[in-house]
Amino acid sequence: MRVIGRVAALMLDYLENYMLEGGYKVGGKSGKVLERAFRDEAFLTWVNAYEEYMPGFKQKLAETLMNLFTPRNDVLELFRKGLVPILSVEKLELLKSRLEKATSIPFEKSVKWARKYLPKGTRIKVDVYITVDGFNWGMARPGKIFLSILQGEPTEESLKGLAHEFHHAGAIYWLNKNKKLNALKSSNEHARILAEVFTYFVTEGLANWYFGLSTISAIQGDEERYRLVKKFEGEMPRLLNSAEQLLKWIYERHEPIEDLKALFKSLSVDTSGQGFPAGHFLSGKMVGTMDNSNIIKKEEIIELVKQPFNFFDLYNKVADENSKLNTGLLEKIKKQIEEWTTTPAPTR
Ligand SMILES: [Zn+2]
Repeated sequence: MRVIGRVAALMLDYLENYMLEGGYKVGGKSGKVLERAFRDEAFLTWVNAYEEYMPGFKQKLAETLMNLFTPRNDVLELFRKGLVPILSVEKLELLKSRLEKATSIPFEKSVKWARKYLPKGTRIKVDVYITVDGFNWGMARPGKIFLSILQGEPTEESLKGLAHEFHHAGAIYWLNKNKKLNALKSSNEHARILAEVFTYFVTEGLANWYFGLSTISAIQGDEERYRLVKKFEGEMPRLLNSAEQLLKWIYERHEPIEDLKALFKSLSVDTSGQGFPAGHFLSGKMVGTMDNSNIIKKEEIIELVKQPFNFFDLYNKVADENSKLNTGLLEKIKKQIEEWTTTPAPTR
């Protein structure tokens, strides 16, 4: 495991020069640092992690960084708002010392924690990138974990929170080996979204339940998160309906596909700045329902990273009658998976 501080170091260097030069200057130090950042391998690794999900992110990030005091009307506004408050000598010094501390954190502890809820033989081989990120405190991609120092001081306690991201890394190890999931991904566009949906519910469900939701009521001083969780609890029927609608549309091969993508995004991406998408809550609660039952063994839940397509069935097995997903629909989805993974993709 490598711990790479360059992404944060470049960002802090840029912000410092931006402040000293009174804004972005093409021929100035700020200009040079930004140019260097966008050619740096580590920095681009972080940028590309977003680019995958938000096409055009790289360009928008550059624009945002060059105009930190110009409000935006896109999703980067959140990012900009995160950076503006640190544009002072004291704040930048504080972040520099955080960066130094972060690079010497014993991340192995988080890995150990994550392994408690992963099957035997899970390989967690990741590099940790320390970032200054206005969107996410923690984020995982295959082989990589990104940890932002913007949101707070990394402490031993926050390492437990980081176990969420290491759990993703372990889950991805198994999901990437799943032949059926890979076949879906290389089938038609609806099948690809279905693969994403199962991946999302399994990864976020387990990570959110075992490293968050199950202890939410015990979390001291996290009033905001607690209130948000209470709000989502009241919205559970609506959230379950959204999940069902998503599966229904995939099965029906609903068009335009943008409807489907928007619905999935409304669950999986949080653009409100609360940092906690509704789908994280929903999937976490579904795993919680399994975990709290006497019928389902913990091993079965943990094995979901190997058998992702069992997720909704396992949930339905123990959910209250009025919280179950439509069983007929789940059956149809299963048949559809068989069909999509055994016949070649249609050429349109
Ligand atoms: Zn997550």
